[in-house]
Amino acid sequence: MNICLMSTETKINLKGLELHELEKLVQQWGQERFRARQLMLWLYHKRATNFDEMTDIAKSFRADLMEKAYISQLKLITKTKSAIDDTVKYLFELQDGNRIESVLMYDQNRVTVCVSTQVGCAQGCVFCATGMMGFARNLTSAEIIDQLMGIEADLGGGKKATNVVFMGMGEPLANYKQTMKALRLMTDPEGLMVAARKITVSTLGLAPKIKAFANDGLKVGLAVSLNATTNEVRNRLMPVNKRYPIEEVLPAAKEWALKIGRRVTIEYVLIRGVNDSPDDAHRLCQILHDVPSKLNLIPFNEIEGSSFQRPEPERVEEFREIAASRYYVVPVRLSRGRDIVAACGQLRTQYRMET
Ligand code: SAH
Ligand code: SF4
Repeated sequence: MNICLMSTETKINLKGLELHELEKLVQQWGQERFRARQLMLWLYHKRATNFDEMTDIAKSFRADLMEKAYISQLKLITKTKSAIDDTVKYLFELQDGNRIESVLMYDQNRVTVCVSTQVGCAQGCVFCATGMMGFARNLTSAEIIDQLMGIEADLGGGKKATNVVFMGMGEPLANYKQTMKALRLMTDPEGLMVAARKITVSTLGLAPKIKAFANDGLKVGLAVSLNATTNEVRNRLMPVNKRYPIEEVLPAAKEWALKIGRRVTIEYVLIRGVNDSPDDAHRLCQILHDVPSKLNLIPFNEIEGSSFQRPEPERVEEFREIAASRYYVVPVRLSRGRDIVAACGQLRTQYRMET
């Protein structure tokens, strides 16, 4: 069905609503509660894009739905495929004209989709392309899950991602409510049914939100972008550290790990001459010694407008070896799709951002 874009403003988007919200809505429309579940299954299991497809729903209700509701989809603007690996960067347009990027990555038998949670980012980390573009607005839960659904629709043939990472544009925990909603819709049995353990949310370390995340109890993974071993260096790289210094972030991460029963992933972007010394590596092991964690080293992806550089491979290896005294395995994360500027944290849409 071609939804007339002009009229969607007054219509309700059925995507992004949780079962209890949809139940309330259908009851307001004079329908029985179970219709909500039926709608959810059409939306997320059968991936219906219009109401005509919903053959087990009475024609009269379908007509009603067409008048009052719509099913959102993101508009795909461009797809850029990497020449180095199979990574694909998707540029989507939102209803208000803002544009966001999502990434599809292949790794052995994993198919990972990296989603954005905000248009731009307000956190201003100085090594990050998204941080440099500033902040326009939060994404809605529908806009977050539509990235995954849009990419899977593009893959065709019922192909699904095996993993989802919230590591695209924006800070997920600064858009807490919509991120949580998107996570529930992704994991719910009536939703997209992605296994919680296959999803990872990456935060720069908003300590109170990490604690809230632990209390919410979702079994999805958490990654914390530490990126420095002293407050002095972290203050320089990530302005947020002045509000939530290392000694607040790590206990929050530990609390999450203990409550959820999973190890927290510590992400550490290695920047030449800034945080890549053997002393840093030793200090990192020390400050993480009592945090149930995994460590991911990410050699800095050089970006336009920044004078930071990636360390030499030997320097990365030296750092990795020291860290390996504390951890069994220390993956050095390959930068997928470097040539198309698609590596997570490198997303920066080339197009104008509406503010
Ligand atoms: N806002 C969240 C998630 C998005 S950024 C966060 O900060 O965690 C995802 C990851 O990309 C973070 O670990 C961040 O430190 C990293 N990153 C940002 N810019 C990068 C760059 N230029 N090179 C390598 N990693 C980068
Ligand atoms: Fe935002 Fe994460 Fe980039 Fe920092 S690293 S500016 S929090 S997207």
